[in-house]
Amino acid sequence: MADFLKRAWAEIHLDRFEQNLNNARRFIQNDKTDIACVVKANAYGHDEKNISLFLEERGVKFFAVSNIHEAVQLRKNGITSEILILGYTPCEYVNELSKYDIIQAAVSEEYAVKLADSARKDDAKVKIHLAVDTGMGRIGVVAARDNECKTAAESIARISCLEGIILDGLFTHYSVADSCTEDNIAYTNMQTDNFFKVCALVEGSGINIRHKHCLNSAGGLFHYDERSTLLRLGIVLYGLKPDRALKMPFELAPAMDLKSIVACVRTLDKGRYISYGRTHCTDKRTRVATVPIGYADGYPRALSGKARVLINGEEAPVIGRVCMDQIMVDISEISNVGEGSIVTLIGSEYGRTITADDIAEMCGTIGYEIVCGISKRIPRVIYRDNKIIDVVEYS
Ligand SMILES: *Cc1c(COP(=O)(O)O)cnc(C)c1O
Repeated sequence: MADFLKRAWAEIHLDRFEQNLNNARRFIQNDKTDIACVVKANAYGHDEKNISLFLEERGVKFFAVSNIHEAVQLRKNGITSEILILGYTPCEYVNELSKYDIIQAAVSEEYAVKLADSARKDDAKVKIHLAVDTGMGRIGVVAARDNECKTAAESIARISCLEGIILDGLFTHYSVADSCTEDNIAYTNMQTDNFFKVCALVEGSGINIRHKHCLNSAGGLFHYDERSTLLRLGIVLYGLKPDRALKMPFELAPAMDLKSIVACVRTLDKGRYISYGRTHCTDKRTRVATVPIGYADGYPRALSGKARVLINGEEAPVIGRVCMDQIMVDISEISNVGEGSIVTLIGSEYGRTITADDIAEMCGTIGYEIVCGISKRIPRVIYRDNKIIDVVEYS
């Protein structure tokens, strides 16, 4: 293995990104919709640089991030594709936006006006995609009711006339595209209808908009609409489900494995307490392995006494509380474990699998939060065709 601290690390498999991307492309099977890969938050914890360069090499021409630092970092790493910032950027960064040719989401008409003012002062021109709030309740000109579409379109028409900005796109975001209840499906359909109604009103008044997009991963897979010029593909690219309860139309390949190593093995008598708070007491003579990974690495404390890890292909339960830097697991039923044995916290061993979605379920959250939460203390070991091509250490 390449040189890095073999305490706890994440293995990132680029070929799995390719599988997920190709499956999504094949599934939508429509060249009216381009795929915009969402690589915000360090590519959902997977390493923005390696992932975006790999995806660009595989033909991706559009990336989405959450803020100006992430966007500029992509440019500095050599990304030449289009970049859209989905989140807020203070108007004083207008020069960076134009210098690095970055498209900015506009969160309101007021924001668009301010951004245009700043741009004119700096003799800059900035492309924007204006958010339309069709029911997410977060950002954008509001068109969450049928009778609001007209006012939204009027607001958009005013924005399109502003000097200093170019209205390059309109977009909306679904709040329940990952739900299959009748009520939520109807809600998503309402969001889609309102969005394209606004688009039609705007275009009807002679304003040409290059991009109109409404699809996130769940939208693309469960509510595909060819009028959306982009599919903002996030979680599915990383091989996780938008919602655990969903049945996916193709198999996902989770791109991140989380590994650690056994630090020591001790055999403890019946009646010994394990970890903080004395929440676990051995009910028999128990072989306990201590593993040097904890909540400071992003292995949630909420997994205390709940999760399992894989060692030699067998499941070992986490006993007692997850500490900041260490966990204890019961290996009484597993043979050949000693200092240096590999521990899989997320990933597969001999056909047994633990996914970030599984772990998320145990601690009452979603897979997104687990992978985004893997901390900077964890080196990302990047694999391509099962060979290490890079090791990224953030600290
Ligand atoms: C994060 C984000 C996405 C990606 O969502 P996934 O569920 O990960 O596919 C798409 N659009 C917007 C506006 C986002 O903020």
